Amino acid sequence: MKQAFSLNWKFTLFIVGLLLFTIGLLSFFVLKGVHEYQTKQREVVMQRQTDFAHLPIRELFVTESRLDSQAFMQLQGQKLAVEIGATSGLHVMLYNLKGELVGDSLPMAGKKSAIDEALQRALQNQIAYYLKGDMLNYFAPVQGMDAQIGVIHFQASSREHLDFFQNLFYLFLGVGAFVLTLSLVLGLLYMNRHAKAIIKLKMATDQIRQGKFLTSPILRRQDELGALSDGIFEMSAAIQTNIKTQRNFINNISHEFKTPLTSIKAYTDLLDMYEDDPNLIREGRAAIAKESERLYDLVDKVLKLAALDKYEFEQHPEQVELHSLLEDVCSRMKGKAGKFGITITTQLESAVVWADRESMLHMFINLLDNAIKYNTEHGTVTVTNRIVQQQVEIEFRDTGIGIPLEQQAHIFEPFYTVNKDRARQYGGSGLGLSLVQHLVEQQHGHIRVEGVEGQGTSFIVTLPIQGVEKFTSWKQVETLLK
Ligand code: ADP
Repeated sequence: MKQAFSLNWKFTLFIVGLLLFTIGLLSFFVLKGVHEYQTKQREVVMQRQTDFAHLPIRELFVTESRLDSQAFMQLQGQKLAVEIGATSGLHVMLYNLKGELVGDSLPMAGKKSAIDEALQRALQNQIAYYLKGDMLNYFAPVQGMDAQIGVIHFQASSREHLDFFQNLFYLFLGVGAFVLTLSLVLGLLYMNRHAKAIIKLKMATDQIRQGKFLTSPILRRQDELGALSDGIFEMSAAIQTNIKTQRNFINNISHEFKTPLTSIKAYTDLLDMYEDDPNLIREGRAAIAKESERLYDLVDKVLKLAALDKYEFEQHPEQVELHSLLEDVCSRMKGKAGKFGITITTQLESAVVWADRESMLHMFINLLDNAIKYNTEHGTVTVTNRIVQQQVEIEFRDTGIGIPLEQQAHIFEPFYTVNKDRARQYGGSGLGLSLVQHLVEQQHGHIRVEGVEGQGTSFIVTLPIQGVEKFTSWKQVETLLK
């Protein structure tokens, strides 16, 4: 709960932070631009005022040419200051070259403070200005005919500029605060929706952990959370099936183990009781031998099946020539086939596959064994192989009892047997085909069954000719390997 909440805040604060940064940066540059524009504007206006002020000064200076600049400023300063003040509408002060005040358009406005730095610079023929409160103090040199004769000092209110700038600043501040609050609220509301979905998913995983599996996806939405929800649902279903399969598997194993053990125990008890019954001894020995054989086979297959999932690294794929491998398998099984009066025939062509030899041996022996076990008297088994579109098909066709169509889909399930009695009679456990299917899939192939009940069965294994597409015959491979 706490985690989702903090995620919610984390995302929202990130967005708010990002907005703050954007608005801050934007405000900074806009305000900076406005400030620069205002300064430039002020300089242009004041420069124009200075130029205007020069007209009456020069006019008078020409007519009073008998006076030097110092005397001229002393004499006419006040008059000029008032005149320029009247035309410009600003507070105007004039200084002589010594920096002494010689004219003031508003003498009642109070004495100017001590000579300041800006004045000093203006006396050195430079323009200088500063803002004091909302007052602009602008100093410019006054030029006579060919040299500086004094300094003019304008005092103008900057209130309007300052107000404009300040309003703009507060506007940015206000809009910023509003946008941030709004985004915080909306962000929290929006993220809350996602956080709630995440909490639901978390609760679902808790349920699964307690063994309560889901019956439908938790969320129905088209985004990543929807995909996660579907994933969790599928995972739940997979775990459920897995557990069920394992439970079934264990139940079946227990049952399959108990039957031969019960039989062995029953015979040993009977043999204890009737120690010298020759018929019972013969029958008991045969039964115990058969049941132990069955147990051995069962243990072997169960262990192999269990190991298959875990020990994939035990696979050692290599180029395997099918013709000779199948011939080898058939000759190994000839003895067993003979016992049941069954003939094995082959129609083989050369083909090379990339697979684990041991697994292939296991697969083919199992299929051939079934074809013999579930055959009819004097029946035949035909083993063929052919290349079909970069794949090899290996077929085990028998003339046996066949498998009913509706049961064909189940025979690869562990412990599934079509006829329990017949399977038991031949020591079958229902694990063989399951193991074969696993092995075939490990070789990246697949297996299918065909046939009609009472008319024999065909098991067809398809394996890819991987990495050796070039080789179609064993002869070619041999030459290349040399
Ligand atoms: P089992 O050890 O019982 O033979 P398998 O997994 O090999 O177990 O086979 C499962 C079942 O499929 C068998 O019990 C049998 O009923 C049926 N079956 C397998 N192969 C054949 C076949 N060639 N002909 C008829 N039925 C078969």
